[in-house]
Amino acid sequence: MASPFRASLCLCLGLASFALVAQSKPGVDPANLDTTVKPCDDFYTFANGGWLKSHSLPADKARFGAFEEVSERNRAILKRILEETSAKTTWAKGSLQQKVGDFYASGMDEAAIEKRGLAPLKPILATIDTLKDGKHLPALLARLHTQGLPGGFGFFVRQDAKQSTQYLGYLSQGGTGLPDRDYYLKDDARSREIRAKYEAHVAKMLELAGDAPDLARVRAKVVLDLETRMAQAQWSRVEMRNPQKTYNKRTLDQVVSEAPGFDWKGYFQARGVKLADLNLTQPSFFQAFGKLAAEVPVPQWRTYLRWHAISATANLLPRAFGEEAFAFQGKVLSGTPEREPRAKRIEAAADNTLGEALGQLYVKVAFPPESKQRVLTMVENLRVALRERITNLDWMGPETKQQAIKKLNAFGVKIGYPDKWKTYAFDIKRDDYFGNVRRASAHRIQENLAKLGKAIDRTEWGMTPPTVNAYYSPTMNEIVFPAGILQPPFFDASADDAVNYGSLGFVIGHEMTHGFDDSGSQFDAEGNLKNWWTDADKQAYQSRTDLVVKQYDAYEPLKGEHVNGKLTLGENIADIGGLKIAFAAYQNSLKGQAVPAPIDGFTGPQRFFLGAATVWRNHIREAALSVRLKTDPHSPGKSRVNGPLSNLPEFFDAFGCADGQAMKRDAKVRPAIW
Ligand SMILES: [Zn+2]
Repeated sequence: MASPFRASLCLCLGLASFALVAQSKPGVDPANLDTTVKPCDDFYTFANGGWLKSHSLPADKARFGAFEEVSERNRAILKRILEETSAKTTWAKGSLQQKVGDFYASGMDEAAIEKRGLAPLKPILATIDTLKDGKHLPALLARLHTQGLPGGFGFFVRQDAKQSTQYLGYLSQGGTGLPDRDYYLKDDARSREIRAKYEAHVAKMLELAGDAPDLARVRAKVVLDLETRMAQAQWSRVEMRNPQKTYNKRTLDQVVSEAPGFDWKGYFQARGVKLADLNLTQPSFFQAFGKLAAEVPVPQWRTYLRWHAISATANLLPRAFGEEAFAFQGKVLSGTPEREPRAKRIEAAADNTLGEALGQLYVKVAFPPESKQRVLTMVENLRVALRERITNLDWMGPETKQQAIKKLNAFGVKIGYPDKWKTYAFDIKRDDYFGNVRRASAHRIQENLAKLGKAIDRTEWGMTPPTVNAYYSPTMNEIVFPAGILQPPFFDASADDAVNYGSLGFVIGHEMTHGFDDSGSQFDAEGNLKNWWTDADKQAYQSRTDLVVKQYDAYEPLKGEHVNGKLTLGENIADIGGLKIAFAAYQNSLKGQAVPAPIDGFTGPQRFFLGAATVWRNHIREAALSVRLKTDPHSPGKSRVNGPLSNLPEFFDAFGCADGQAMKRDAKVRPAIW
């Protein structure tokens, strides 16, 4: 849910960076530093300046940093597996090798995809064309949603946030194609420019799908108008982070009377879902949606749904569609000049579509079983450190402490890959890429809906094994670390402990702290949204988190564009707490041992912080950064280093930072939370 990072990488420069990685010293490479900058002035640049200079952004990347470096290596392994597996056509039908291999072969057969043209999409467009009367809109949306195609809103099943032993259906806002509602509603130059380019992009796609240019332009305006009306009703990302505000359990009858204009019973019947109650995540959005369903003329709905069906499947269609999609999504929104090579795109699609089948083959070559034990030991050391921290907090009373420790003790831990693998019980055909992705999508949705009424599946993973990321789930109360992130520089068996605690320890501490961030702290040990705080402690906590909001609000990574302190609050709390806990765990690990000798002139504590700074080094394009400042709950890399460290006395001590230096914020404004 509150996951820290997202990543993807390139081929061309990827090879060059392999060489650099291979030549790097384990742990901290002095070549990656910029010693012309003082650590107490700007630690991010001191620790990463050399690396930033020796690396540039690959032409097909919006961002390139530590996550992308690791991801690139993981993806090279996946590519090799896919090439080897797809070269053989004699795998037993239904075996995971047959599925993975034929999926890749189908995606790489560009000639066949070109030859089939729009034919695979036609039945979907024909279904949309059957909409002649507004009263059939619910059944049509149900049919599209069942196939995994977007329109208006989403419906999915997940744990009931207040009764985590049961599943509940969630209706959630949607309907727009731009990355945030702000792009429809704001009047600054950049938002206006993106809107205009989006409208032109919609027209171009409709034209590619057969509309005459004039008609396509008229229809693009219709799409933009309808999406703008939906955006006006959408909640902001800050509101969406509020678990209490977004928990609105209703009976189906209540939804019918609260959001009139749309036949909700008809919709669920058409989806084959029987439910007595559900969560209306954003009630006011659904009231507005009901009105739109009743008021907007049917031809406009057809145009809108047609656009979304084309857009959602663009990368499965002939080249012209994917290129036009990239011209907007990649070039305009991210500023990325080049598209990834086809092999990389199909590899990413395979991970997305058959992630645990491909992941089984990946972990066999990339994740030795002994890694699991080493990481688990580190997790348990971090757990001990956080327990000590909670016990000694000066701002929290004993009752709340007891509950916090109960929650910490109950944390589940998953490392590497699932114990039980998904089976992907649907056909993968060597000559049908479009169909393969559609069947996978429909299967995923069917699997999700089938959970209603069943016992909670605690073996399930929210990320695939090669993913360079990690997450905390508040309703499961568990932290999860895929094999993909348990690689250098996050975890390096040949590096000293100080560096590993600073990098992987930081990531582990970050995920643990999510259980106690402004949102996670509202969930109890059983994963229920239920208050376990005394009022006084809640207040003391909030006065501290208010300081975090203020601190990050002040960061201005692009001229005139600030970090949103409220949107990024949970992640910033997790960064600040994660570092503190990881450092404490590192110090615990030294108890009873001789102080490690400095390496390359850096003490253990200094190497810890250098390891931590490595995690967030990256280059990012301005356009991509601008979108992220509006949409990403994570702060930019530089703020993720200098933000937490400038609050941390352990850091000041390690580098001798004095009052008044930028990396030592005034004690009065320093949030000390966990
Ligand atoms: Zn996070």
